[in-house]
Amino acid sequence: MVTVTFAQRKSAVLSPSRLACLRNVATINLTRGCAHACRYCYARGYSSYPGDGCVVLYTNTLEKLRTELARKRKRPQAVYFSPSCDLFQPVPQVLDLGYQVLAYLLGEGMNIALLTKGVIPPEHFALLCRHASRVRVQIGITTLDAATAACFEPHAALPEVRMAQIRRLIAAGIETHARVDPMLPGITDDPVTLDTLFAELARCGVIESAISSLFLRPTILQVLKRELRGTRYYDQLNTRLTACQRLAIHADQSTVSALSQGVRRELYQRVHLIAAAHGIAVHVCACKNPDIARGSCHIAGRWEREQEKRDHPVLFNEMGIGRWQG
Ligand code: SF4
Repeated sequence: MVTVTFAQRKSAVLSPSRLACLRNVATINLTRGCAHACRYCYARGYSSYPGDGCVVLYTNTLEKLRTELARKRKRPQAVYFSPSCDLFQPVPQVLDLGYQVLAYLLGEGMNIALLTKGVIPPEHFALLCRHASRVRVQIGITTLDAATAACFEPHAALPEVRMAQIRRLIAAGIETHARVDPMLPGITDDPVTLDTLFAELARCGVIESAISSLFLRPTILQVLKRELRGTRYYDQLNTRLTACQRLAIHADQSTVSALSQGVRRELYQRVHLIAAAHGIAVHVCACKNPDIARGSCHIAGRWEREQEKRDHPVLFNEMGIGRWQG
């Protein structure tokens, strides 16, 4: 049960991000709080977090967006949904506003990138399909196990639904990648579980995935331990997180708790090999792993390439790299 309250947004709708991967894009949050209620969600630690089971919907988003976009001399390369919530939360008012905002931006010729763990409703799906070349999607998936997903991502789409969405998005010609993030220590990061997951992703047509292990703001770590006590996940997670290190990450101004650098390095190497065996290239999220990774996990797509293709179509064709594949 989610309580929705309504608010007028005072700050700008299109926000820049501190994350390197979002450098050239503008970001939008339609809500404060997120109905998916993932237990590990970093947004639960924000001072503006409205509390579990509550979302605040900014009802003047579209109106403000029209004004902002009209005033912009240089438009962002793309608009990214959403740094601190999900576009497809199971809340009718959020979905309605999301559709209107998407339709407006796509109608204005903007590029859209989105990351979701939600169910994409048919009308939203059809809209995205009509503008397939200007849409990039990452589907967040942490496990194929419905019970584990129900514990850690109680109101997000079932794993099988996310997989089906990946298949349909790719079939519709929308560049769609997976985001296996977070890998839960001792729960979803063992070789057999990972192999099963990447095999299924490959069957769905995935050729790229962003990955990261779990990182937790200190307050969320305490809450998570409390919430999981008595479940079959507690011992595994507690044991592995006891040896965690504090890490300053690009995604946040505070430090977070993460597995040690050595453990993460080993894990990412293992995932790289497992994914490669299924024909999937992985990118470690460098914003969360600044001590290990470089480059981008392409959370908001690769729009530079699209621009280059438009500017130098012949060169692209001769080089045979016109396909968006990294
Ligand atoms: S879907 Fe994303 S923003 Fe929403 S609760 Fe889960 S991790 Fe947080």
